[in-house]
Amino acid sequence: MTKSYQNLIGADWKAADSGATFTSVSPANHDDVIGEFASSGPADVDAAVAAARRAFGSWSLMPAPKRGEILFRIARLLAEHKEELSRLMTREMGKVLPEARGDVQEAIDVAYYMAGEGRRLFGQTVPSEMPDKFAMAIRRPIGVVGIITPWNFPVAIPAWKLFPALICGNTAVLKPASDTPACVVRFVELLMEGGVPAGVVNVVTGSGAQVGNAIVDHPDVRVISFTGHTETGIEISRRAAETLKRVSLELGGKNPIVIWEDADLDLALDSVVWSAFGTSGQRCTAASRLIVHRAVHDEFVEALRKRVAALVLGDGLEDGTDVGPVINDQAVEKIAAYAAIGRSEAELVIGGEPARDGDLARGSFFQPTIFTEVRPEARIAQEEIFGPVTSVIPVDSWDQTVEVVNGVKYGLSTSLFTRDVNLAFRSIRDFDSGLGYVNHGTIGAEAHLPFGGVKATGNGHREVGQAALDFFSEWKSVYIDYSGKLQRAQIDMSFVDQE
Ligand code: NAP
Repeated sequence: MTKSYQNLIGADWKAADSGATFTSVSPANHDDVIGEFASSGPADVDAAVAAARRAFGSWSLMPAPKRGEILFRIARLLAEHKEELSRLMTREMGKVLPEARGDVQEAIDVAYYMAGEGRRLFGQTVPSEMPDKFAMAIRRPIGVVGIITPWNFPVAIPAWKLFPALICGNTAVLKPASDTPACVVRFVELLMEGGVPAGVVNVVTGSGAQVGNAIVDHPDVRVISFTGHTETGIEISRRAAETLKRVSLELGGKNPIVIWEDADLDLALDSVVWSAFGTSGQRCTAASRLIVHRAVHDEFVEALRKRVAALVLGDGLEDGTDVGPVINDQAVEKIAAYAAIGRSEAELVIGGEPARDGDLARGSFFQPTIFTEVRPEARIAQEEIFGPVTSVIPVDSWDQTVEVVNGVKYGLSTSLFTRDVNLAFRSIRDFDSGLGYVNHGTIGAEAHLPFGGVKATGNGHREVGQAALDFFSEWKSVYIDYSGKLQRAQIDMSFVDQE
């Protein structure tokens, strides 16, 4: 029997108004049906937004340290249920179990960090220009936030968005990706168990066109936090402008690892395999470009080919699996189309085909793939493939390297392997990206520093860390005049004349 899941509206789990449903299946084995979910529409979004509005009054007035205590409880609950959630994630999304544990751990880390913010949420106090006057700026909650998340980090990304939104006193309507609704429903069940009051977090499952658009268009939703494809983000931004919403967009990437001639090649190899093929290359920070100094190109590419040839594809729940499936068959088709383009533009080193041997035929698998002698302007070096495919671009000079690194429309994560401290600092200054690494791959951000990118990777906002509080709160500047008389700022300057 397929298990049925419903929307969370206020305190109640409810079927879609239309009664329609859709299923989520495992990408490792399409016969493994995870569950049946509400295929919702605008009426369900209306109900969820109304519940979030009702809950806003008391949640926003709850002292922030008390909201923080709820987040502390949630952090502990997530830790207690880490293995269960991780296994569900591997089954539903496909990433190998150790990586799924990392995804849940990110949510735990953000819960602890934002719980602590309940006792800070620092504002600003500044000296006034006038005598006997006090000046400060405080953070205020904004209202109902709409959260739209992708499938590749199905617990971490909802946590990145929800926890700062909640600690700031907002309430939320969350729409998970249609490929990973079970992870989000289970995550939110734990939030409720941790003490989040009814209506503070609502979940509406269903398609981007039906549910996503209705959230973005809703006049009572004041903020949209979205992670997904750049094209979807642009469309959301355009629609949200109609109701003047605040919008945070975390979008695509085409992240380079630069391997300089003096690099520790063994370390670089370990990092490249992890950054390019972890999560089957389906991370926004995946290393899809390897910019390799010509002096070490042949040695590096041959060593990488050997490492990739030894990677074991399979179900992420099985011990010994290095690379899990990609998210679904449409993704296999898209990656295969890029592999065909790659063959016409560059030299194939290894891979390049869907993987269908034995049990792999039951799911959506693609061989880890490397191209070399890729021109920087080639399509496979410019466009986000979002699969286990990486392109080696040989370079001869530092100036050329900077040009190639920056010569794409995205700017999320960049990395340089070198022993030259001067080049290391130059890379941080000159590479256009929101995250910069030295002697480390393109993945590995921590929960207390801002996360996000430049150029087509976003619209200038950052997630997690202090930066997330700025997005999910509104500044109010407050002036308290205790002089007992009218003091006109910038006009009544008599106290200056007295000196
Ligand atoms: P996506 O297709 O853009 O979908 C993301 C979410 O938006 C899903 O919930 C989707 O719903 C929904 N959606 C689709 N069309 C919509 C519309 N017109 N209006 C409102 N919502 C809509 O992206 P994805 O395939 O899930 O995720 C992969 C992308 O995310 C990659 O480009 C990756 O680089 C990016 N990403 C970026 C970051 C970052 O921090 N920069 C992190 C992770 C991932 P359905 O699932 O129902 O279609």
